Amino acid sequence: MAILRAWQKGPSSTAGPIISTSAWWSAFEEVGLDPHFYAAARGRERGLSVDHINTGVKKRWLLADYQASRRGGIRADCREECDACGVGATFRKLRVETPAEAWHCPPVTRRGS
Ligand code: SF4
Repeated sequence: MAILRAWQKGPSSTAGPIISTSAWWSAFEEVGLDPHFYAAARGRERGLSVDHINTGVKKRWLLADYQASRRGGIRADCREECDACGVGATFRKLRVETPAEAWHCPPVTRRGS
């Protein structure tokens, strides 16, 4: 709901299509959510703010990515080499039914995906 409210408030007049920070703060306040809860550092025990959304990416991959980012690490572009995030396994049936070029995912070369 906060995302919808921020979007309804529209973009900042000076930042192009980007929603202004004040619009985000206002939207969160209007719907009674604390943005700090979602932006705070998290451990495995607390869960991720996106746990309720199934994108097909494995939670352990997201946690490893999060922890690496906290150390300043970044992942290579997975379109060059699959990093086995789990999308391939989650959507295996759909992947078989859809043209390969639609996925932009290269063939899996390690750890399986
Ligand atoms: S290439 Fe596809 S399956 Fe591999 S890490 Fe990237 S999004 Fe995930």
